[in-house]
Amino acid sequence: MTAKRITEVLQKKAVGITINPYQMMLQQLDLARVHTSIPDGIWKILRSPERSLEVSIPIIRDDGEIEVFTGYRVQYSSARGPCKGGIRYHPGVTLDEVKALAGWMTWKCAVANVPYGGAKGGVVCDPTRLSEREVERLTRCYTARILPIIGPKQDIPAPDVNTNASIMNWIVDTASQLRGEAVPGIVTGKSIELGGALGRVEATGRGVMFITIGVLQRLGIDLSHATIAVQGFGNAGSVAARLLSKQGGKVVGLSDISGGYYCSEGFDVDDVVRYVKGSPGHLLAGYNASGIEEITNEELFTLDVDVLIPAALEAQITSQNAARVRANVIIEAANGPTTPEADVILAENEIVVVPDILANAGGVVCSYFEWVQNIQCLPWEEEETNQRLGKVMQRALREVLDLSKERNISLRLAAFVLGVERVAQAAILRGVFL
Ligand code: NAD
Repeated sequence: MTAKRITEVLQKKAVGITINPYQMMLQQLDLARVHTSIPDGIWKILRSPERSLEVSIPIIRDDGEIEVFTGYRVQYSSARGPCKGGIRYHPGVTLDEVKALAGWMTWKCAVANVPYGGAKGGVVCDPTRLSEREVERLTRCYTARILPIIGPKQDIPAPDVNTNASIMNWIVDTASQLRGEAVPGIVTGKSIELGGALGRVEATGRGVMFITIGVLQRLGIDLSHATIAVQGFGNAGSVAARLLSKQGGKVVGLSDISGGYYCSEGFDVDDVVRYVKGSPGHLLAGYNASGIEEITNEELFTLDVDVLIPAALEAQITSQNAARVRANVIIEAANGPTTPEADVILAENEIVVVPDILANAGGVVCSYFEWVQNIQCLPWEEEETNQRLGKVMQRALREVLDLSKERNISLRLAAFVLGVERVAQAAILRGVFL
């Protein structure tokens, strides 16, 4: 099927479908295929995850009742090295979502050229309805159940939506207790005191900042004249907003699950961060400052800004709202925020989309640095981490931009081609076992 034909089929299917992230990831992969010369057999290997594990997680709630949760760990590919990917706690987690996220991790690690395969984990739960002790019990039981397949040389989890350093610390402790040895390198994104890397908390947002600055430079847009809107004010979104505003960008739109705000003069992002740190559920709701007005998440996507940064969940920019997007550039801090159908509409409107597997790679690059420090038992200064992160992100951006120009393809296609070809090359060199 030609790229044009695939696009036509996608457009026909666009209206009224339920968006399945795994199908979305496979569609993106298939669109890239026509730009590669990967043999059929290898392609078959690349289209399915190596291993998908489903576990039940019984915990005793604070009221003494037993509740059983479901969790997953998917290892999409280990062709280029140990599997790597975050753990998500969210009521919307499904096996297909975890498979998609594990696939995107695989291509992302290859685009950034770090020696990892890709994985992801998730637990179907609403952590806002669990006490801290219940989250700890859930984490410890989930860790015990996935322990046979994780480890510093097998598969290394990290934080993702609704998970953080405390959760990573409990994973380190549970794994170390059960294995009878210290295994700090079993996760990244843990507290500094337990072997975490200085700079890891900010790394995804910092990577987004490097990519935004680099892309705007190529487009001839000066960051100090650029307006920015960010959906999602968690780890990725809040840090990206804060660092970009520090660099001179004007952040005029912010939103999270509780709603959003617009400020034509630009937010004092540090002030918003301070507010969210102390607010109920760490949400934007109730924030007040002069010159701000309430907007919805939908309205945030239609703001007339230079840069739009989706930093929440998958499938936020779809065939339903893509035509109303007015930004010049979309930087995907979230994984999978744009559907393939929306990509077509955005391209027609000449909106540049910097794909997730490039834009948000800062997190995994810094995780790689943390893992290296754990193996060597040699912590780095934060400055060194940030400098190295900048170099890796800028190299990846340059390679994707150059490939996009050379082959006259979108940045998403270029990133997929770069990543998938690297994984395919590793798979070819390893050969097929048995
Ligand atoms: P987080 O839990 O810290 O924050 C998520 C944010 O999204 C919160 O502000 C939440 O309110 C908001 N949100 C959730 N659902 C929403 C909705 N329906 N509408 C609007 N806002 C909504 O998570 P995070 O770690 O910042 O991850 C955000 C995205 O970035 C995810 O796609 C994740 O996979 C991706 N990502 C994160 C990292 C990382 O290191 N944390 C690395 C790479 C990619």
